[in-house]
Amino acid sequence: MSKTETIAFISTREKTRPVSFLEAMEKGLAPDGGLYVPDRWPDLTDPFWKNIQGKSLQEIGLLLSRTFIPEVAARELQPLVEDALSFEAPLVHLHDDRYILELFHGPTLAFKDFGARFMARMMSYQARRKGEQMVILVATSGDTGSAVGRAFEGVEGVDVCLLYPSGKVSKLQEQQLTTIGGNVTALEVEGTFDDCQKMVKEAFLDEELRKDITLSSANSINIARLLPQMFYYAAALAQLEEKSPVHFCVPSGNFGNLTAGMMAGKTGMPAGQFVAGTNVNDVVPLFLEEGDFVPRPSRATISSAMDVGNPSNLERIRALYPGMATLKQHLWAASFDDDQTRDAIREVYSNYDYLLDPHTAVGYLAARQYKDERKGDRDPVIILSTAHPAKFGDIIEPVIGRPVTMPDRLAESLRREKKSIGMKAEYPAFEAFLKESYGS
Ligand SMILES: *Cc1c(COP(=O)(O)O)cnc(C)c1O
Repeated sequence: MSKTETIAFISTREKTRPVSFLEAMEKGLAPDGGLYVPDRWPDLTDPFWKNIQGKSLQEIGLLLSRTFIPEVAARELQPLVEDALSFEAPLVHLHDDRYILELFHGPTLAFKDFGARFMARMMSYQARRKGEQMVILVATSGDTGSAVGRAFEGVEGVDVCLLYPSGKVSKLQEQQLTTIGGNVTALEVEGTFDDCQKMVKEAFLDEELRKDITLSSANSINIARLLPQMFYYAAALAQLEEKSPVHFCVPSGNFGNLTAGMMAGKTGMPAGQFVAGTNVNDVVPLFLEEGDFVPRPSRATISSAMDVGNPSNLERIRALYPGMATLKQHLWAASFDDDQTRDAIREVYSNYDYLLDPHTAVGYLAARQYKDERKGDRDPVIILSTAHPAKFGDIIEPVIGRPVTMPDRLAESLRREKKSIGMKAEYPAFEAFLKESYGS
C-alpha cells in the first residue's frame, strides 16, 4: 500500500484527528469520548477473501495486521502475530447447515484470549520502542482479568496489576487470577468490584503518580483487542468447503466479537447476515425491533459474560452501518432466557453429542430461530463458540447429569499455588503499592 492510502483511526464521534493504530491502542478511548474505528475500509475482496480457502490463522493474522497496522514493519509484525495466535480456531460441523467455530483453545479457554494476547504483544512492542516500562491496571469481576493476565504473562516491557474483589469471584476464577505470577500481580481488594474500578480510575487521574509510572489499560473497547477478532472470521471461511454466503451467529454482551465480524464484512468478507444472540439483557434486540436504544441495568444470568445492559460497541456498529434500515440489513438479533439456554445445552448434547457452554448455547438458539423463520435459506451458519464448557461445569453438570471433563490446561492452573496481595479498598494503599512496586 502506498503512503497516501495508509489507514488511520478516527473516533466514532469524528471530533478528533486521525491517529495511528499504536496511538489508538495507547489511548484506548478517543479524547472526545468515542471509540476508535478505521478511517476507511480497504477492499480486500481480491485476492485476500477470494483466495481465503486453506489459509492458516497465522497467515490471515499477518495479512490483516499488515493492512491495519502499516506503521510496523512486516518482519517485526510476524513474530508478534505468530506468538499471539499460537492456538487453533477449528470449525466443527454440528448438523445440516450449522457449524461451530471453537474459539476456546487458548490459555483461558475463552475467545477473549485472541484479543488479549494480540494486544499484549503490541503493547510490548510499543513499550520497547519507547524504552519505557508500562503498567497495565485491570479491575476485574472474574473472566477479563484472567484472560488479560495470562496474555501478558512473561511479556517483556509490561507489568500487569489485577484488582479483584475478595470473596466475590468464583473459586475457579480466583485460581486463574492469582496463579500467574512473574510480571502479573493479583491484588485481593477488601471491597466490591466497583471499589476496584474506583481505585483504578483514581490512579489514572493521579497526575503526580503518572509522572513516575506509565499507566495503561486493557479495556475491551480497545481497538487492539478488536482487530485480532477479525482474524478468526476469516479462518472460519478458510476451513469451509462451501462457497455460498455464510451467516455468522455471535453470542453477544458488549458486542465486540460481533463488531469485529462486521469490520471484516466491511473489507469484503462474503458474509450473509450477522445474527446476534443475547440472554435476557436484550437491549440490542429491542433496539432493532423498536428503534430506540434504551440502556438498562444488567440482570444476572447463567451466561454471565453477556450480562451487559449498555453494550459499548453498539456505538461502533452504528458508525459502521448508519441508519436503522442499513443496520437491519446486516444485523438480526434475538434474546433467550436461562431455561431456554439449559434446554439447548441438553438437546444439542443428546442429539449431536456436542457440549455447548451457556454462552454458545444462546448463540445456537439465535441461529436456530433465524433459520426457522427462513425455511428456504440453505446457506451455512457459523456459530461462534466463545467458551469451553468445562469453565461452566457447575451450570452444565446438573443439566446433562454427568461431570464435564476438564482440559489439562485448566486443571493445571487449579493446581498452582495462589498468590495474592491483600489490600483495603482505599486509594492511598493502592497508590503506595504502585509507587513501591513500579516507581523509580
Ligand atoms: C465476553 C464474552 C462474551 C461476550 O462477548 P462480547 O464481545 O462482549 O459481545 C460471550 N461469551 C463469553 C464466554 C465471553 O467471555
